[in-house]
Amino acid sequence: MNTIGFEAAAVRDVAPCCGYGVAVSAGDAVRITDVEGQQPCDFWAFSRADVFEHLSCEHTKPSIAKRFPRIGDAAYTNRRRAIVTLLADQSPGQHDMDFAACDAARYLQLGADERHPNCADNLRLALSTLGLVLPYTPQPWNLFTNFFLESNGSFTIKAPATNAGDYVILRAEMDAYIVVSACPQDQNDTCGGRPTGLRFETGRPNL
Ligand SMILES: [Zn+2]
Repeated sequence: MNTIGFEAAAVRDVAPCCGYGVAVSAGDAVRITDVEGQQPCDFWAFSRADVFEHLSCEHTKPSIAKRFPRIGDAAYTNRRRAIVTLLADQSPGQHDMDFAACDAARYLQLGADERHPNCADNLRLALSTLGLVLPYTPQPWNLFTNFFLESNGSFTIKAPATNAGDYVILRAEMDAYIVVSACPQDQNDTCGGRPTGLRFETGRPNL
């Protein structure tokens, strides 16, 4: 946790089970707040110069030698360039980089209706509002998601440990499109059983 300031220029409330996308410039920051607590945020970042360069969990982990970034660490693209840096983390600090976004097939796999809202569709819709099409779903950085690895290699997704108002601040390291999804997962503990909304702010860090 640290306490850098943040000057918000725009605020967007992301409704439960919905997504949002925005273009930012290098040096801009975003603050993402878990409004009610226990709500994961699927997070994607894409280079505005070439949308096929995007945040890659697989490339971030070897770049930082951690399972996900901590304060001061960047997340990296599939071309191994820093795309965002975690400036502040007012949360318990669990931000999974191991899980694919939920999608129609995942809900079918869990016995739910394939028309269930899902983060992959939220990404596609948010990209379309930005005039973009991507023929696949990059693995998101699952902010606030509480992936727990057992010593025997098995794992559980526990309910997020976040409280209402917990947030992270991320700085764009290149001109980027940022997309978030308030994950609608209600078939297990990913969202503590009750999907809620997020607050998404763009602005400047006040260092
Ligand atoms: Zn999801």
